[in-house]
Amino acid sequence: MDTEKKIYVTQPFLPPLEEFIPYLEKIWESKWLTNAGPFHKQLEKKLCEYLGVGHIALFTNGTIALITALQALRITGEVITTPYSFVATSHSLLWNGIKPVFVDIDPLTLNLDPDKIEAAITPHTTAIMPVHCYGHPCGVERIQKIADNYNLKVIYDASHAFAVQDAKGSILRHGDLSVLSFHATKVFNTFEGGAIVCPNARTKVRIDQLKNFGHVGEVTVVAPGINGKMSEFNAALGLLQLKYIDQALARRKEIHVAYREQLKGVKGIRCLNDAGEKIANYAYFTILVKADYPISRDDLYQRLKDNGIHPRRYFYPLISDFPMYRGLPSAHRENLSVATVASQQVLCLPIYPDLDMSVVDEITRFIASQ
Ligand SMILES: *Cc1c(COP(=O)(O)O)cnc(C)c1O
Repeated sequence: MDTEKKIYVTQPFLPPLEEFIPYLEKIWESKWLTNAGPFHKQLEKKLCEYLGVGHIALFTNGTIALITALQALRITGEVITTPYSFVATSHSLLWNGIKPVFVDIDPLTLNLDPDKIEAAITPHTTAIMPVHCYGHPCGVERIQKIADNYNLKVIYDASHAFAVQDAKGSILRHGDLSVLSFHATKVFNTFEGGAIVCPNARTKVRIDQLKNFGHVGEVTVVAPGINGKMSEFNAALGLLQLKYIDQALARRKEIHVAYREQLKGVKGIRCLNDAGEKIANYAYFTILVKADYPISRDDLYQRLKDNGIHPRRYFYPLISDFPMYRGLPSAHRENLSVATVASQQVLCLPIYPDLDMSVVDEITRFIASQ
């Protein structure tokens, strides 16, 4: 392989620069830079239409959106969540003074295992925060049933799940709230950005207050809110990105199909189950390097890097292994045996709209030839 090149696990999708200029001119003319400006309003409306949801509140990033979602529902005490995610999922709980309770994942989907949730519920449990990991839908119906039985709220970290559908519509309609991230590395990006999908207008009003310091009008403050507002610059970029999203998703799918086809039959490599046509957004291409592969996951990771290919071990280490979490009783490895094994085997391969198919061929040949 060409050792000069560097292929990363993802490369942000950017629309043609010249198409962004007219948006900037409008911002410069109006001098309306933030605080629910015209592009912000338009993007909320367009995203509701595109995603097929009723109400969206835009945010400066996904992490502030997660923190605010917990505030909006007044979540306290303990929240059941997955250790197999990006660290922001659990950090949003700590920022609210909430104790995370880690529950193991399902070995097929790598999402929170609904069978293991009930055993972790205590009198202090107030909510469940699952993650649609890699954009693969959680067991939403079973999770809702448990939540209903125990009177718990459900907040989905849907950072990976932009445009993901199930048989009846957007995956984002499940639970009490769903949170999206529009970070540069995600399927749909506004450089930095995020959103909360709300079930009704009343909840959106409260969330809009919380993301604007708790202000209601000029002289009234009703809650200790935060500054979570998305700027006009980011909202304008989002509007332009939306014009290209279908193209970007289609290209991701082609790459996904090629990987899957070319890695079929490579001994010791398991491609994570396909979420299925229509459902998936192909945000990640995830393989598990099993014990019968000739070298370890970490050796494969290093050899790919030495050859200019930079995959990522999403998610390794587990959140529960970080210093601020590992003292929790639920963080014990014995409690999280499926997640522990997955984190030792997982490798996410490069996938993004501009990735050349010849690079996919190179990567799969390299993996098959170890
Ligand atoms: C990206 C991500 C976040 C954080 O989103 P930001 O927009 O970067 O703050 C949270 N959870 C998961 C699972 C993510 O992948």
